[in-house]
Amino acid sequence: MFNKVLIANRGEIACRVAATARRLGIRTVAVYSQADAQSQHVAMCDESVLIGPASAKESYLQIERIIAAARETGAEAIHPGYGFLSENEEFAAACEANGMVFIGPPASAIRAMGSKSAAKALMEKAHVPLVPGYHGERQESDFLREQADAIGYPVLLKASAGGGGKGMRIVERGEDFEAALASCKREAINSFGDDRVLVEKYLQQPRHIEIQVFADNQGDCVYLFERDCSVQRRHQKVLEEAPAPGMTPERRQAMGEAAVNAARAVGYVGAGTVEFIANQDGSFYFMEMNTRLQVEHPVTELITGTDLVEWQLRVAAGEPLPLQQQDLRIDGHAIEARIYAENPEKGFLPSTGSLLHLRLPEAVAFAHGEVRIDAGVRQGDAITPHYDPMIAKLIVHGDDRSQALARMQQALQAIEIVGPATNVAFLARLIATPAFTNAELDTGLIDRHHALLFPPAESVPIEMVALWLAKLTTPETTSYDPWGSVQGWRLNGRYRRQLRFNCDDQEFALELDYRRDSRYIAYQSQETMLSQVNVDQTEVSLLIAGRHISGRVIWVDDRFHVLWQGSHRVISWSDPIAHAGESESDDGRLTAPMPGKIVQLMVAEGASVEKGAPLLIMEAMKMEHTISAPAKGKVEALNYAVGDQVAEGAQLLSFAPEAS
Ligand code: ADP
Repeated sequence: MFNKVLIANRGEIACRVAATARRLGIRTVAVYSQADAQSQHVAMCDESVLIGPASAKESYLQIERIIAAARETGAEAIHPGYGFLSENEEFAAACEANGMVFIGPPASAIRAMGSKSAAKALMEKAHVPLVPGYHGERQESDFLREQADAIGYPVLLKASAGGGGKGMRIVERGEDFEAALASCKREAINSFGDDRVLVEKYLQQPRHIEIQVFADNQGDCVYLFERDCSVQRRHQKVLEEAPAPGMTPERRQAMGEAAVNAARAVGYVGAGTVEFIANQDGSFYFMEMNTRLQVEHPVTELITGTDLVEWQLRVAAGEPLPLQQQDLRIDGHAIEARIYAENPEKGFLPSTGSLLHLRLPEAVAFAHGEVRIDAGVRQGDAITPHYDPMIAKLIVHGDDRSQALARMQQALQAIEIVGPATNVAFLARLIATPAFTNAELDTGLIDRHHALLFPPAESVPIEMVALWLAKLTTPETTSYDPWGSVQGWRLNGRYRRQLRFNCDDQEFALELDYRRDSRYIAYQSQETMLSQVNVDQTEVSLLIAGRHISGRVIWVDDRFHVLWQGSHRVISWSDPIAHAGESESDDGRLTAPMPGKIVQLMVAEGASVEKGAPLLIMEAMKMEHTISAPAKGKVEALNYAVGDQVAEGAQLLSFAPEAS
């Protein structure tokens, strides 16, 4: 076995490899970009080497620098993880040329599977079933059109060099062929520097089923069963599970053997995945082979009780496969969800920013175990535009699919992330859709259930409103305490005031009712009593209508993130000061609608100002608010100086609007 391995990657996969290496007593070397100096993968490894600036092109994709780092630190082998250089034959060859072991297949196997077209030609020879289509060298538009006509529409155009869902176009009718081909070639040349395409029959409601294979240097090759990765957005996986629902032992064996044949055909060594596209009737066709460990490998580990990174290390060190085909069994069911920093509501656009608050189920005690989190980030780390926006992978195991689903739902509820937008709430809805629960899987599931997956924004539940109001009463927020500010106004032992707030672009109104000994919230035509408020930093608990609830409220900038029972709502204050001038300009008095402090006077007494001119700045709720002239006119008197505390309702200045 190796003494020292360099991990040419970052994030969760680098941490994942480091953890297994440590368990096996192997020393690890991390490489990192300037953006990752403080990152977890660096902290987890025994040594680390800076390899360049943040941009992946100048760091994680720099073959020379990574080889040099391995040489300097005396690493005997390099684990490429996935992405970056993992499927780069030049890198595999460079490792070999420098006397280091590339933990992956031989460069020749990477090359053979690198082009989707060339791989298909090879697979045809190995009698692996292919989707009807054309994957030859000829690229003239008329010729490809003839092929498409012969295959029958719809067809799919794919960049031969493609990956990551890029360079694919569905063509529904012959008339659209030419335009689609041009656009596919454009994307292919831009993304991969190679505009060759292939044409395939576009299958209706297919499933994506892939087989994990493993081969050693002794000529043995096994399959570790299948993963169903049909639930996709933009042709990219969102949920993966194993085994595939509905799979029969016969078909599993047929697919497994086809995958092993595919691997053998290219002299494969190490971990690889053969991807198939399958019809609902069970017929399946080779799509491509990924010559590396996959993001979704943990579901296979959980159902087979293996550690595939350990297998990779052992096989790369020349050991035989730890298990033979007849020793491999499926135990229970596993599902993985990819937690992304992205905005599902905005077309799954990646989101960036610091993870201001991060709580993953790792730290949560589950009654019956079997929840795994593969993460490479910690609270305070940033999701940057330089790398993939994946935050973590959540993987659950159960005795059967329904138990795994229940655990997934429970684990998703326990995730708390404040910072970038995430897909956590979307995943919870996805897991709960009847189509997914009933395992009616195909690659169009997300698109077809759009209405269920993207329901209109709901109103904010009273519990979350109460938690937010409770947080407003804590010391750091007391500059605006909606309850405290009314102390002086309790003339008859009772005071009511109205508040407004925003959430998901909707405005909500509520009324606070402060009676002699209790507080009430009137919200959505219900009056609820609130008591026993307890706030400890971000943790808030209270008694609402006799029920004890607790949640978390995190105040970032001018927004409050309220987390309660797996929901995450972002409440922002409808700033009453912002509208101060508008409603109170009639009588020329400008008053403070909430208590605060004067921080700056921007005009002198007697000044003539235009409408909208800033007059003074007040601070309340730790935010600055500018009071502006409600109309063109004259400032007759300033009633306060800088530093003065003002009470709610205080007249700040006298203002004489110009007669129009
Ligand atoms: P990439 O390498 O870019 O990820 P793949 O060839 O692996 O591309 O295909 C990605 C996804 O596109 C598949 O999982 C499937 O959802 C869809 N897809 C690919 N080929 C077909 C096809 N012939 N018919 C229908 N859908 C397909």
